[in-house]
Amino acid sequence: MSLVLFNDLTRTKEKFTPINKGHVSFYSCGPTVYDYFHIGNARPFIVFDVLRRWLEHEGYSVKFVQNFTDIDDKMIHRAHRENITVQQLAERFIAEYNKDADALGIRRPDVAPRATEHIPEIISTIQRIIDNGHAYVSEGDVYFDIRSWPKYGSLCKQNLEDLEAGARIEPGEKKRDPLDFALWKAEKPGEPSWPSPWGMGRPGWHIECSAMSSKYLGDNIDIHSGGVDLMFPHHENEAAQSEAASGTGKPFVNYWLHNGFLLIDSEKMAKSLGNFVTAREALKKYPPLAIRFFMLSAHYRSPINFTPESLEQAAAGVERLRNCRSDLDFAAKTRRDNNSDFYVDKFKSELDDLHAKFSEAMNDDFNTAAAMGVLFDVVYLINTSLKENESLPEDFFTMSKNALNEYDEILGIIGSDDAETEHDEEAAEIERLIKERSEARKAKNFARSDEIRSELKARGIVLEDTPQGTKWKREL
Ligand code: AMP
Ligand code: ZN
Repeated sequence: MSLVLFNDLTRTKEKFTPINKGHVSFYSCGPTVYDYFHIGNARPFIVFDVLRRWLEHEGYSVKFVQNFTDIDDKMIHRAHRENITVQQLAERFIAEYNKDADALGIRRPDVAPRATEHIPEIISTIQRIIDNGHAYVSEGDVYFDIRSWPKYGSLCKQNLEDLEAGARIEPGEKKRDPLDFALWKAEKPGEPSWPSPWGMGRPGWHIECSAMSSKYLGDNIDIHSGGVDLMFPHHENEAAQSEAASGTGKPFVNYWLHNGFLLIDSEKMAKSLGNFVTAREALKKYPPLAIRFFMLSAHYRSPINFTPESLEQAAAGVERLRNCRSDLDFAAKTRRDNNSDFYVDKFKSELDDLHAKFSEAMNDDFNTAAAMGVLFDVVYLINTSLKENESLPEDFFTMSKNALNEYDEILGIIGSDDAETEHDEEAAEIERLIKERSEARKAKNFARSDEIRSELKARGIVLEDTPQGTKWKREL
C-alpha cells in the first residue's frame, strides 16, 4: 500500500504523489520565538518530524523547511517589557527552542529561515501581489484585497459572508473590507521597521511563510503543515498570497495537513488561556521519550489530553520497550548459541508480517498510534522467544535488534543504540562494578556489595539479579 494523507483541502484521504518523483517539498509553520514553547506547540513539531522521517524511510529525499517568526506584536511587547531589542529576544528564544526541540528528539529542519532575514523577499512578494491586482496600499499599510480573490475560503471551507460575520476592522487599520489582511504595516514609534516602496514598516503576520516557502521550495509545494488553529486565517491567507503572487494558476500547496489540539482539562492548551506547561517544564518531570510516546500514541488529527496519568502510562510504555532491548542485549551476551534449535525461519516470517503491518499503519495517514500497536506486537514476539528458549542463534539477535532500530528511527521512542555506545566507557565501568559486587557477595562481603548497589543507584543505574546473572539498566 502506498502512502495516503488526509488532505484538508479536500477533506479526504488522498494517495500521496509528489510533484517531483522521489522528492518531497515540505513546509511546516514554526514557533513565534517570544517565549519557551509549550507542550501543545510541541505536538506539530513532533508529529510532522515523524512524517518527515517516514517519507525518508520510504526512500524520498525530503527538503523540510520550518520558519522562526521573529517579528510580531508579541515579540515587540515582550522585548519592550524586558528592555531588550526584538532581535536579542529572538536570538535567546531560538536558542531555547533548539535546546528543547533537540531534547525531544525533533530533528532540525533543513532550512530554518527567520522572517527578519527575508525582508527583501517579503517586499518583492508583496509587490507582485500588488502588481497582479490583489493588494492595495493604504497610508503606508498594504492589504490583501480578498474580494479580488474568488478562491478565498476554499481551505477553511467557509463562504465570505460567514467569514465576514466574524471579522472587524480594528482601530488604526486602514482597510476597505474587514476580511482584508495586512501584508505590510506602516511604522509605529518604538517598533522595528525596514524601508520599503510604501515607506518604513514591517511585514504582516502571514506574508513571511509565503515568501520563505517560495524561496526555499518553489511556488508549488507538496506538503504544508501546522496546528489546526492555523488553518484559518493563517493558511487561508498564505494560500491566497502565494497564489496571487505567483500568478501561475498552480496551487500553493498540494497537501495541507493539520494536527489536532493538545488539551489540558479538556481545553486547548494556549498561552493566551494561561493553562500551558512549557516543554522545558515537562522535560523536568518526564523523560523525553515518554513525551514523544504520549504524543505519538494518538492519531495526529485527534485531540489528545495532557494528564499526569497519560504521561505516566507513556513512561511505562517506554520502559517496556527499553526492557525488551536490554533483555535482548543481555541474552546476546549470555545465551547466544548458533546450535540452538530455535526456528529462525518462522521468527523471520512473523517479523516480516509485522513489518508489513507497521508500513500499512504508517502509510495510512501516518497512523502512529496503530504503528505503535504493531511495535508492541514485535516486542511481544521477541520477549516470548527469549522466554521460551534457553539459547538463541546470532540471526535471532540480529533480526530483533534491526527491527527495533528500524522502528525507532521513525518513532524515536526507545532511544538510539548510539546513545548506548556513547556510554561505552561508562558501561564497561558498570560491568566492572557488577563483577566486583558478585565477587563480594560470593565472599559474603555484603557491606561492599550493598555499597556498590547504592553507588550505582545514585548514578541512576538499577540492578536486577536473575538466574543468568545480574542485569542492569538506566532509570528513565
Ligand atoms: P505558535 O508559536 O503559536 O505559532 O504555534 C506553533 C505551532 O503550535 C502551530 O502549528 C500551532 O498551530 C500549534 N499549536 C498551538 N497550540 C496548540 C495545541 N494546544 N495543540 C496542538 N498544537 C498547537
Ligand atoms: Zn506559516
